[in-house]
Amino acid sequence: MKRAFGYIRVSTVGQAEEGFSLDHQKASIKDYCKTRGLHLVNVYVDEGKSGRTVNRPEFQQMLKEIKEKGIDCVIIYKIDRFARNVTDFSRIWNEFKEKGINLISVLEGDLSNGSSLVPNIFASVAQWESEVNGQRTRDALMEKFKSGWQPTPPPTGYRSVGGEGERKYCEIDPYAGPIVKKMFELYSTGQYSMVTLQEWLKDKNIISKNGTIISFSRINNILNNPFYYGLIRWHGQEKLGKHTPLINKQLFDTCQYILEKHRHFLLRERKYDFLLRGFVYCTCGMRLVGDVSTIRSNKRKVYYYHCQKRYSPDCKQKYIQAKDLEEQVEGYIKEIEFTNDFIVQVQQQARDFLNTGRKNTQGMRQALINQRAGLESKRNKLEDLLIDESIDRDTYKRKHAEITQQINNLQTQIEEVEEEGKLDMPLIEETLFLTKDIYKTYKSAPDPLKRHYLRFFYEGFIVDNKVIVEAKPTPIFNALKTANMVRLRQVQLLR
Ligand SMILES: [Zn+2]
Repeated sequence: MKRAFGYIRVSTVGQAEEGFSLDHQKASIKDYCKTRGLHLVNVYVDEGKSGRTVNRPEFQQMLKEIKEKGIDCVIIYKIDRFARNVTDFSRIWNEFKEKGINLISVLEGDLSNGSSLVPNIFASVAQWESEVNGQRTRDALMEKFKSGWQPTPPPTGYRSVGGEGERKYCEIDPYAGPIVKKMFELYSTGQYSMVTLQEWLKDKNIISKNGTIISFSRINNILNNPFYYGLIRWHGQEKLGKHTPLINKQLFDTCQYILEKHRHFLLRERKYDFLLRGFVYCTCGMRLVGDVSTIRSNKRKVYYYHCQKRYSPDCKQKYIQAKDLEEQVEGYIKEIEFTNDFIVQVQQQARDFLNTGRKNTQGMRQALINQRAGLESKRNKLEDLLIDESIDRDTYKRKHAEITQQINNLQTQIEEVEEEGKLDMPLIEETLFLTKDIYKTYKSAPDPLKRHYLRFFYEGFIVDNKVIVEAKPTPIFNALKTANMVRLRQVQLLR
């Protein structure tokens, strides 16, 4: 039987009350060991207010005892409960690796595996960010979750009601609710495709906030959101919420089955995930798109990118093999370098960017609030018209429902803008620390993460005659370059 130590850190008084309590963490670690057949030898607890490793006596004690007690692994509850920041985390992680100790997080799994580390760091970077910026908000949201209400705005078919901000709860939207329910029922028959559902929703006047028709991905999100049968989720936990379910679990499960069937069908059509889709352009200005062809003689598949206007006489650009182009992009990533001296300035720069973003958010929020006020006065006028008997009851009802729906849409939009406004400084900051070894991190990252990095640095690449001739940096990358905070190494010369 493998032998384990548990380690828990309770960093602030607030946390102790808000679902990350000592008892909760301890019980979770015990549970974890029990179900995985691990012998939990001891649990160490630091209750220090400071997260710095040197100030954690119990942690130091644990390190000393690891060897003499013949320990195989250390179980923690969650990375961001455990370490103060990415630097701190990777130092401890390396220390454990050298000792041959597995580091396991109850919520995030085995962290010792190199390949899972990258996503974990990203996940926790996001955590730290929100922790720094909104511990209080987060505590309040957790409290809301624990009391049975979903902390985020409710999905289509529900509307927020009641108190202020976080304390708000939700109820079924009398207009959209029954329609969403009916949509589940229709889809469960297996006779409806996404296209027909989209049309159907359009007929029912369920549209997106921008006034466009509901996208396939939105429909998909609705169909596999367990909220509709009563479940709420928050930070890896789930429970039955207090809101009224629109559908029962049986109907939900049927829809999952149909979705799965449709998904299989779609998967057959696209296997290779073209990493650079949306990032690469032809000299004629069109996008390069991914494609595949099979060599007849040996049935080998060749993946390549080509101009969207491949068959047009205006563009004579050749195709380029996917691997070749992806390696060229890697070359660009390899050149990016930040220096320690500049990190401090980089942080300031990023902070300015965030502030601008926040200002924009505020402006956008105000504009939406004005729109809502406009609609509300329109609705008031409508009520006056009814009293004056200038319009009939049916017209009144129809118009009233229409305006109310628009107001509800705006409300959701306002809430979303407010959510976005909670953008976070530490995320950018920690990301920049990671960029010290950007090339290595990039190369070992799975494709979705690679795209994440690319998006941070580059808006696109222009390809001429199979070679990248221009890399278009993002505004933030540009600003950093201009300010001399990031530099491009001349990799070719070093070779
Ligand atoms: Zn072209």
